[in-house]
Amino acid sequence: MKKVTFVLLAGALVSGALAGCSSSGDKSGAGGEGGGDLPKVGAAIYKFDDTFMSGVRSAIEKNAAGKAEMDVVDSQNSQPTQNDKVDLFITKKKDALIVNPVDRTAAGVIIDKAKTADIPVVFLNREPMPEDMKKWDKVYYVGAKAEESGTMAGELVADYFKNNPEADKNKDGVLQYVMLKGEPGHQDAELRTQYSVKAIEDAGIKVEKLAEDTAMWDRVKGQEKMAAFLGANGDKIEAVLANNDDMALGAVEALKAAGYFTGDKYMPVVGVDATEAALQALKDGTLMGTVLNDAGSQGKAAVNLSAVLAKGETPSKENVGFDITDNQYVWISYKKITKDNIADASVQ
Ligand code: BGC
Repeated sequence: MKKVTFVLLAGALVSGALAGCSSSGDKSGAGGEGGGDLPKVGAAIYKFDDTFMSGVRSAIEKNAAGKAEMDVVDSQNSQPTQNDKVDLFITKKKDALIVNPVDRTAAGVIIDKAKTADIPVVFLNREPMPEDMKKWDKVYYVGAKAEESGTMAGELVADYFKNNPEADKNKDGVLQYVMLKGEPGHQDAELRTQYSVKAIEDAGIKVEKLAEDTAMWDRVKGQEKMAAFLGANGDKIEAVLANNDDMALGAVEALKAAGYFTGDKYMPVVGVDATEAALQALKDGTLMGTVLNDAGSQGKAAVNLSAVLAKGETPSKENVGFDITDNQYVWISYKKITKDNIADASVQ
């Protein structure tokens, strides 16, 4: 009896795993099953378990319909795993690749492999170094200008300070802030950190950094780091800058636990991405602002570009539907979002 149960269970697990495989988007788009003559594109995401990249992945899967037989895989936050996935795509003779690098400095190795196999590559979200981009003319990057999002996040905080004099809690004319940084080395972490502070200073506001730490884009880590910042600085903190919404929402949780967002106790918190959860927090009045990182357009541009390249055509605004800068870059704009223009974030 026990044996029978085990066999049944094992069978159920195997079929469950198989079902999970196909629904996880291993094959998707109109070409999912029997894509016919559609070009074959392999897409490797740095990790599926990233809120923003989940949005980009959905956009890739949605936009692939009728354009490409899309094979989307999870690199599980490991560069060696991603390199293996790329090797497999090459063995499977994909016509083009979309790669969201785990480590953007590893793009060069991927470009070398793809060039040898003559398979064009579209990088996404993690910008390869300029010298790597120059290795081959069939290499493209779809992303958003990291500086722009930093500047917008800083401007949201600067505007808040100008319009709410009570935000300078200790009345010293200086904005005491804490910074929750994304993954070190990621262009969005480095440049958002730098440009957000610069924008506040450029608005004529003096700043003092009380603390800065990486929370690796992660909500739980954001909460832990914010709890530590509160433990060390208490009520001295006058603003929280986070490089993305997940970390900002983690900070909001830590602030709630410390009694913020009830009565008069308030803290301006800004993030970047405009995820669904962040838009809800804007409505709730906990998150003060965010910056739309347009996952929908980034996914769509990556699909269009890869499909054009896969067919051996030269990308242009006409066949891709997006401007191409310096023959290799598609830049998607950011947008400031507060509770007053939440609808503007729904382009995702
Ligand atoms: C997003 C983050 C995300 C990261 C992944 C950034 O552009 O703002 O939320 O974790 O990309 O690479």
